Amino acid sequence: MKCDPTLYRASTPALAVKPRLIRHFFLPPLIILLMLGLGYAAYLVSERIGIRTLSETGERQLELHARGVESEISKYTYLPSLLELEDNVSKLLTEPDGEHRQAVNTYLEGLNRRSRSRAIYVLDTTGRVQASSNWRDNDSYLGEDLSFRAYFQDAVRGLPGRFYGIGSTTGEPGYYLAHGLEERGKIIGVAVIKVRMEALEERWQRARLEAFVSDENGIIILSSDPARRLKSVAPLTPDVKERLARSLQYYWWPLNELQPLARERLGENVEKLTFPAMDNSEREVSYLAQTRGLSDTPWHFTLLTPLQDLRHEAITQGVLMGVAFALLAILLIAWNERRKVIATRLAAREALEEANSQLERKITDRTADLRASNERLKGQIRERRQAEETLRRAQDELVQAGKLAAIGQMSTSIAHELNQPLAALRTLSGNTVRFLERGALDTASTNLRTMNELIDRMGRITASLRSFARRGDDRGEASLAKAVDATLQVLGTRLENSNLRLHRDFSDQKLAIDQTRLEQILVNLIGNALDAMQAQPQPELWLEGERTDDKYRLRVRDNGHGIDSEARKHLFEPFFTTKPGEQGLGLGLTLSASLAAAAGGSLSVEHPASGGTAFTLSLPLLDAPSQPAEPI
Ligand code: ADP
Repeated sequence: MKCDPTLYRASTPALAVKPRLIRHFFLPPLIILLMLGLGYAAYLVSERIGIRTLSETGERQLELHARGVESEISKYTYLPSLLELEDNVSKLLTEPDGEHRQAVNTYLEGLNRRSRSRAIYVLDTTGRVQASSNWRDNDSYLGEDLSFRAYFQDAVRGLPGRFYGIGSTTGEPGYYLAHGLEERGKIIGVAVIKVRMEALEERWQRARLEAFVSDENGIIILSSDPARRLKSVAPLTPDVKERLARSLQYYWWPLNELQPLARERLGENVEKLTFPAMDNSEREVSYLAQTRGLSDTPWHFTLLTPLQDLRHEAITQGVLMGVAFALLAILLIAWNERRKVIATRLAAREALEEANSQLERKITDRTADLRASNERLKGQIRERRQAEETLRRAQDELVQAGKLAAIGQMSTSIAHELNQPLAALRTLSGNTVRFLERGALDTASTNLRTMNELIDRMGRITASLRSFARRGDDRGEASLAKAVDATLQVLGTRLENSNLRLHRDFSDQKLAIDQTRLEQILVNLIGNALDAMQAQPQPELWLEGERTDDKYRLRVRDNGHGIDSEARKHLFEPFFTTKPGEQGLGLGLTLSASLAAAAGGSLSVEHPASGGTAFTLSLPLLDAPSQPAEPI
């Protein structure tokens, strides 16, 4: 079963190729780009979420540790004010003498030991140290003028003196808390306590906490990482730097800026800071920096939470997201391809089914057409058979009518033909009577013989005409071989007298004609041939058979004198003869042609160039199977 190829024709090649090209060339880079983009987005989101979570936990840590710093500072706040209660202190400040100084020195020494502070000392209103806990040490503050210190300047004015600085005598950093000592509403001196905060730093380091405390100038005064100590968290102008240098607050430290590689503000007091790694490698370390002001001081506590783990996690998330997207994309592409394959198969199946149904429809239509035309043909065949029957009947009638008409036409000739022998008979009979009377018996018997011959001739004429006029059975059955044999027998005497060479080249056939009629035709044709070859020293006769469709043609050819052109025109006319005297009636060919036509055949003549004459008798075959042509 063949299908209509047009059914499978999809879109035009140009249209079909374009999307495929786009898919092949643009899809992979697009997927890679999307994968990278999504991976990066996932990385950013994960980092953001991580930072938020970290900042929430960092907030608590910040609070906790800031409180720790505050309590560490506040622990000492009350100490300088305690000295107001000490009589010796106020006596020393109002009436400075050696006795009071010694008493205060001893007192301060004991107090300092108990409070675990670095030093406690008392200054008069001019800023000179009158007594100190470290009076025994070589680098004792005793007698030093510290009026330039800011904490003294604040405290002498009745304000709380808070100060971080590096000691000008010891060069040691410390936190100074100063308090103006009052007596009867008047400030008579300043009590100062210096504390060290290293304990805090050590605690941070032990807890692996990264944090620092920056003072009012933005200088880091406490740091878990010593490298960050005494660096400024914000850029310092040259003026500020000079002022700070002059105050000797930080001794001679250069106060470099703590410069992060990158700084990103994430919120109120929350920043992302990136520093070079401590090991001086190329690596960078990022921190979440959360800052909070410390109460009672202008200082700020900053907690640094490393973002390294977070970053690793964000990278992992990004990679996972990229890989997940790639997998999803591959799955989608595979699914899409499979869907297309299924769709193509379905389309092909549908097309095939459609083609099949179209074919079936066409077959049904054509079968119906064929049936209709078959019916029509059957009808036409019936009609033709009827027409043939009618025609045959009409033909028979016509032949009969023609024969009768010919007889009518011939009647004059017949009368003439018969009148001649009748006249001769009359003369001969009269003569014979006279010869008998005279006794001339020989002559009389000769006349009688002639008269017999004339009567025979007249009989032959009438017999021929009777057979011509008779409505015979035109559709008999004849054997060709038998007919030829019978003919040769009839003409036996003449054949014996002639020196004839007979060529039999035909096969026996059953022909649709009456056997006698066929013999009659053959007697006429072969007889004529023998007549024509009378003068021929080597007479030859060919009987050649040939089968054509539903007819059999027998060619009767001789090497006689042939027929001249004038005679050819009248051959089949009744009573036309070239034979002398009594020999020819001129009815043989006319009758033969008529008999052949009545049987549905024909008789025709040819004039071979080699000489002689050939008559072809064509007669319908009975539906006998064809037999191989064997010479008989
Ligand atoms: P008939 O034989 O009585 O003459 P036909 O009708 O048989 O009448 O023949 C008519 C004429 O046709 C003959 O007289 C003869 O001249 C010519 N004819 C017929 N057969 C042959 C033949 N085989 N060869 C030459 N002439 C022929």
